Amino acid sequence: MSAEHPSVLVVEDEPAQREVLVYNLEAEGFEVAKAETGDDALLLVAEAQPDVIILDWMLPGVSGIEICRRLKANTSTRAIPVIMLTARSEEADRVRGLETGADDYVVKPYSVIELMARVRTQLRRVRPASVGEQLTFEDIHLDAETHRVTRDGKPLKLGPTEFRLLSTFMEKPGRVWSREQLLDRVWGRDIYVDTRTVDVHIGRLRKALCAQGGDDPLRTVRGAGYALG
Ligand code: CA
Repeated sequence: MSAEHPSVLVVEDEPAQREVLVYNLEAEGFEVAKAETGDDALLLVAEAQPDVIILDWMLPGVSGIEICRRLKANTSTRAIPVIMLTARSEEADRVRGLETGADDYVVKPYSVIELMARVRTQLRRVRPASVGEQLTFEDIHLDAETHRVTRDGKPLKLGPTEFRLLSTFMEKPGRVWSREQLLDRVWGRDIYVDTRTVDVHIGRLRKALCAQGGDDPLRTVRGAGYALG
């Protein structure tokens, strides 16, 4: 997982359907994890939280509805958007699906283009920078499409790591990020980087943000990490 490549977990037991989804999601530039059963899905989510989950309703063993219910009952996974896939189109089932807390609902057979659009809609909500949105925090403006950052209208020069750090902060102003969470998000889980590296890049980001004047918008939270604002 990284700031540049949002991650999607596909939970679908039918191999052909699963592979079509994986193929299309990867073509969109997403990092994709896949699971065939609900139990596998829960294990994967506990290991590394995806940005969005596409969850088939009909799974062997624990049903998609039950998985959704468990994800939404858990405070650490509640915020992950869940798009439910189902062959059932009856209105009552649709309502039941939404009652489990699913964020969106797609009826099979679905159009892959439509489903990709729904994934982007969820990402725009939870990871706006990852889908090229423009973000603003006070006088700082970040364009995730062109990678341009300005403060008070003046362009700022940021390295790629500092850009990803700032995107992460600007997606959730006020949120306190631990060094480990920033490592996961900005550097990716698979790369070994010392937590002190985070401090180094935070220092560079601060310098870049204040290069044209203005106060330091980043907050160091003792024993916890960093936050914007
Ligand atoms: Ca199925």
